[in-house]
Order: sequence, then structure tokens, then C-alpha cells
Amino acid sequence: MKLSKIASEIAESPTFALNEEARLLRERGEAVIHLGIGEPKNKTPISAILTSAAKLTSGEVKYTPPDGVPSLKKAVIRYTEENYDRLVAPENVIVTNGAKQGLFNIFYSILNPQDEVIVIAPYWVSYPEIIRMCLGRPVIVTPQDGTFTPRFEDIERAVTSYTRAIIVNSPNNPSGAIYPPALIEKLVDFCERKGIFLICDDIYHRLTFDHKEAIPAIRYAKKDVEDSHVIIVNGVAKLYGMTGFRVGWVVAPRELIRVMTNVTVQITSGVSPVSQAAAEGALNGLQSVVEALRLQIQNNRDVLLQEMKSFNGARLIPPDGTFYALLDLRAFNNNSVELARFLLKKALVVTVPGKEFGMEGHIRVSFSGTVKDVTEGIARMKWALDSTSPNEIYIGDKKMVRDWL
Ligand code: PMP
Repeated sequence: MKLSKIASEIAESPTFALNEEARLLRERGEAVIHLGIGEPKNKTPISAILTSAAKLTSGEVKYTPPDGVPSLKKAVIRYTEENYDRLVAPENVIVTNGAKQGLFNIFYSILNPQDEVIVIAPYWVSYPEIIRMCLGRPVIVTPQDGTFTPRFEDIERAVTSYTRAIIVNSPNNPSGAIYPPALIEKLVDFCERKGIFLICDDIYHRLTFDHKEAIPAIRYAKKDVEDSHVIIVNGVAKLYGMTGFRVGWVVAPRELIRVMTNVTVQITSGVSPVSQAAAEGALNGLQSVVEALRLQIQNNRDVLLQEMKSFNGARLIPPDGTFYALLDLRAFNNNSVELARFLLKKALVVTVPGKEFGMEGHIRVSFSGTVKDVTEGIARMKWALDSTSPNEIYIGDKKMVRDWL
């Protein structure tokens, strides 16, 4: 069959194969633990349920303005003022089908064929693919071994006359790293001077631990939103645990938002008004739901760090935010896809191979589930890989004996 070259070249994700295998194992009644998925277990905030239910019962579920309903944009403007100390206009905001579609729309709207975007490893899997789908070229900058924080000099060195943007995701998926404020400040200054966009994927920005703060890049901008090259991407998926509603937003100069709106008209016509009402409810509702989630996730992170202490051979830089940890398992195998397959087969634990994030020999585990998921999941990983751990374990009600180390 003759299909599009661009579409056919989108990399197949090893995670999908692993997830499918895990689903089949679960269906057979196997005690699979899922440390692969990045979504909190909380219920939708009640304020979001009420506003979206009211929208639904009104029976008025029609097209909305493509850039979002004015009342949700107003809520985003207030959110931006509260969290970023910037007053922006409705013309600076577009509501998107999740942060993901916001990113796609940004790249589609700023890139010409062959333009480059600097992507810092470890990176969220979708960045390079989305950039390629928009005919751009991802240029990967990898931090020095043993750290998940890039050096400014390395980013600067990767910039060419084709560079249109640098994308920063801090707190970072998959490492949980928060980049130092000094680095963010330098990047903002550099991008403003060079006229390069600094795209800030802030989807985890308030999910931080131990009183650490991910200082928003825009705070360092000397110019206002119109002239600064800082673009903010955010949404309700992670902080409010509303992944299924598919609502995100972008704050950017009006000219870019205008073009992105035209793109939206031709692709999605906008976001479902039921979902937009839910997002509005979440943003205008009690914000203690975010703090409750943050505390639960921080507790899971603490449990994870405790469990990792006795995992000989595994190395971990403690995450400062998000609900992910990127384990360095190179002492066991450099091939992360093999590692993830092995962990699923032997220990019935789903993880994500670091290869997907540009970090071979690493495995991402998500601690967004229950404390039990974290303790049992790590215990099983230790049992499968670490020869100094006890060689017997219960998986479900089955006693398992390790006979491969
Ligand atoms: N950016 C990052 C770094 C993410 O991890 C995710 C979700 N996994 C997204 C964006 C996408 O968010 P949304 O569900 O709002 O599309």
C-alpha cells in the first residue's frame, strides 16, 4: 500500500507493544503492576464535574470559538497572572485539545521545512516526532553523563541559523529534574537576543517537591509577551488529573495565536465545550485539589526513594517534580527495550524504555499510582535484576524463585 512518507516514518512506540502485552497478561488474570502510565489516580475535581455536567444538561453543546470559549480564556488569563505574574490579553491565548495538540499547532505554525528545534534529552517522546511531522528537524542536546540538566554552552553550540525554537520541559518528563533558575534565565536572555522561540512545556509546573519551585521562564523575560519569544504551554491533564478531558492552552504573541487559530479552524474547529466547561471549573474551583495531589505524589516519591536504597546496581537522581523517575540500569543492560521486556516477562512490571526519551540504559517508572504499586513494583524489579536481593518473592499468590542470576 502506498502511504505518506511522513506519516509512515513516525516511529512505532515500543511502549505500545509493552502496554498491549501487559493488557493481555492482565486479562489472563496475571498480577501486572503498571509503572508505565503517566496519569494520577485521583477523581476529576468536583468543580470540573459540576461545570461540565451543567453544560451537558443545558443541551447547548455546539461549536465554540476555535480559540476557546471567552470564559475559559478568562480563567487562563487569571491563572497566568497568578502563576506567571504576567497580564496577558485574550488574543494571547488559545485553548487546545490537550497540551499535545498545542505543541503540534505551535510547531506547525512556526516551522518551515528543515528548520531546527533544540530538544534537550531526556525528552518527552512526542517532541521529536511532532517536530518531524511539521517538517522540522529535532536537534538533540544531551547532558553530561550522570546529570539530567543540560549545560547552557551545549545548547548554545547546537544553535544554527536554522534554529527556530528551543523546547524546555521543567519539571521534566521523564527525569523529574527541575532545571536551575540560572539556566532558565540564560536561555530567556539568549532567545530574546537571537529571536528564537523558547517553548516552555509547563504541564507539570506545580507538581514539585521539597519546596522546590520551577520558576517560569517568562519571569525572566525583559520584554512583554508580545515581543518576548517565550511561549507557555500548559493544561489541566496533570495538575488536576484530567487527562481524559483533553484541554490544554498556549500563551504566546498575538500574531502566533492568530495563525494557530487559523490552523485550528481547519483541523479541529476547537475543543468540545463540555471539556472546556470542565477545565473552567477546575481552574476556577478550589485549588486545594492540586495541593492534595502534589502531597500524595510527593509521598509516593519518598516511598520510591526509600525502596531504591536497597536496589544495588541501580542509580537514581531523585526527581524534584512530576511523577516519574528515570532509573539508570546500565549496570544490568544497556538495552532499555530488552530491560523493559525482561521486567514485564519475569516480574510482571510495566515500565518505559529510556530509549524512547533519548536515554539508553535507563528505565522510566511512574509513581502516579498507589503506594502499593510503587513498593511492590520496585521490590519485583530488585528481585528480577539485583542478585543481592532475596531470590524468592510472591507475585500475586504465586511464589516465584529467581533462577537466572
Ligand atoms: N508534555 C509533557 C511533557 C507530557 O508528559 C504530556 C503528557 N504525557 C503532555 C505534554 C501532553 O499533555 P496533554 O495530555 O494535555 O496533551
